[in-house]
Amino acid sequence: MPSGTVKIAWGEIIRALEKWRIDFTHAMGNATGNAMGNATGTANPSVTTVAERYREDKNAPWAVLVSTILSLRTKDEVTLVTSKRLLEKAPGPAALSRMKEEDIARLAYPAGFYRTKAASLKKIAAILLAEYGGDVPADMDKLLALPGVGRKTANLVLIEAFDLPGICVDIHVHRINNRAGWVSTKTPEETEMTLRSILPQKYWKRINALLVLYGQNLCRPVSPYCSRCVIKKYCRQNGVDRTR
Ligand code: SF4
Repeated sequence: MPSGTVKIAWGEIIRALEKWRIDFTHAMGNATGNAMGNATGTANPSVTTVAERYREDKNAPWAVLVSTILSLRTKDEVTLVTSKRLLEKAPGPAALSRMKEEDIARLAYPAGFYRTKAASLKKIAAILLAEYGGDVPADMDKLLALPGVGRKTANLVLIEAFDLPGICVDIHVHRINNRAGWVSTKTPEETEMTLRSILPQKYWKRINALLVLYGQNLCRPVSPYCSRCVIKKYCRQNGVDRTR
């Protein structure tokens, strides 16, 4: 990307990433004989899969909230299994609030920090029952006030459970945006705030799924595959000293 360029060609970038995603998913499907479905090449992040499964269920926002919390620092396949197991026993906050914390932890195992997550879920269920009639609030500030809920979780719940605009920024989205020079930020939260002002809202929901898959497979944390990159002409390669 020529230095000094200010305008970011978001439409072209998103289209290139969408095309790459289709080609990549197809190639992986052919290679494995299966649909994609793991941490190295998931086409549907685990929370999206849970959201789709519960789309028509009245407790869909609860299911998304639970799976989002379980997904933090956890592989996609573990998130799917533990979400299913926990939601079968606790399809809503009332059922979970009746469970013992150690039983919640047992069902959440081996998700990362499963004991901490069990404690948070127990507290969240109590708050939802006491303050929101057992519903999950469709509001960023109210979600952020729940224990164990940060911006990534709150954004994902708003996007997946309520179809509201949000930008979910994880390490991949943060890294690629900074490498490319589209933002210049120190934290994922700063990246989210900057993207909210420069990225057209119609791409907010999509950018996470596209860049997570791209970051897991092409724009890797160490030695990215720049020679195969489909968005190289839009990238300044900031801080990239070794490529493949
Ligand atoms: S050119 Fe390299 S650093 Fe830039 S987005 Fe592509 S893979 Fe990542």
